[in-house]
Amino acid sequence: MRKNLVRVLCVISVLLAVTALAFTACAPMERNVTGFAMGSSFSVDYSFSSDLSQDIRSLLAEIEESFSATFDPSCVSRINQAEAGVSVSLSEEEFFALTRAFSLAEETENAFDPAILPLVKAWGFDPPYLYNGKIPPSSETRASAMLLSDPALFSLDEASFSISKSNDGAKLDLGGAMKGYAAEKVRDLLLEKGVSSALVNVGRTIAAVGEDVPIGVAPPRESAEDYILSFVLKEGEICATSGDYERNYESDGVLYHHILDVSTGAPASSDLIAATVISKDGMLADAYATAAVVFGSEKATALLRAAGARAILITREKKLILCDVEVKIKDASYVIAA
Ligand code: ADP
Ligand code: MG
Repeated sequence: MRKNLVRVLCVISVLLAVTALAFTACAPMERNVTGFAMGSSFSVDYSFSSDLSQDIRSLLAEIEESFSATFDPSCVSRINQAEAGVSVSLSEEEFFALTRAFSLAEETENAFDPAILPLVKAWGFDPPYLYNGKIPPSSETRASAMLLSDPALFSLDEASFSISKSNDGAKLDLGGAMKGYAAEKVRDLLLEKGVSSALVNVGRTIAAVGEDVPIGVAPPRESAEDYILSFVLKEGEICATSGDYERNYESDGVLYHHILDVSTGAPASSDLIAATVISKDGMLADAYATAAVVFGSEKATALLRAAGARAILITREKKLILCDVEVKIKDASYVIAA
């Protein structure tokens, strides 16, 4: 009898231990993975039972290896180095991402221009991003770079999943949309794995997974505050910010910045100094943020409303133009436009 009792107690304690172990293995834990991708740092905070850091790192590395203009085997590098008329084969994923980039160009009348590398190089805004002693290009260089920065020089062929160009000098630069694409892919990976709460940040392009998150918008000009305003990014949404303050250089007392307007061949000179665009479509948010700075407030507002995207546009006069967003202002020198 006593022997049996000991046996039962042993079985119960083994069962309890197994249950406790199983519970520990399934309990969500707060986790974080950080690193470097697409020329910026990334950080993903998530709550989950298992470690997804390797999946996240591999996904970001894969995206970079496909679309970086400076990584030699990437499809973008192969296209850029190809001669006119040569077909460059693409994976299905690459084909659809490039198709999306070209349709974003069409939607924005090339204000977002994925073929802008010749102009970016002419102005010296290509990697390694060293601006010491930089000077703007001559008007001849600028004019020929403008002609080469034309998405119409590229054609995609769905039957063969390939791309070709009609001019040797035409080159792609997807830097204006890839962080949004990457944030979207990481969000989708986390959802697929069953993560119910996460915050994805790829070079300040942010995705909210599973819950709403307050986001602070960085000061586009000198400010005593660490962020000028905050808003709520709703679960599933991605926000991307473009601004003239991100990368620039001064020459002869004039400041030149990295968001270029292919219609003038020069840095964008609209009334906007920054744009934060919010959408469930990360590539759209990123491309439209770049396009908004090029377009200026009037055209950008029409474009964003038509796409159903939310946005915070900031003018040179520190006026805030809000598209379907409520903000809490921290730096009172910024005022909501009437
Ligand atoms: P970030 O600096 O955060 O990537 P953007 O998303 O606005 O900001 O991307 C700017 C980058 O995109 C530039 O450094 C350049 O490589 C490229 N670019 C510049 N102007 C344009 C444009 N009009 N359309 C598309 N890409 C652009
Ligand atoms: Mg962008």
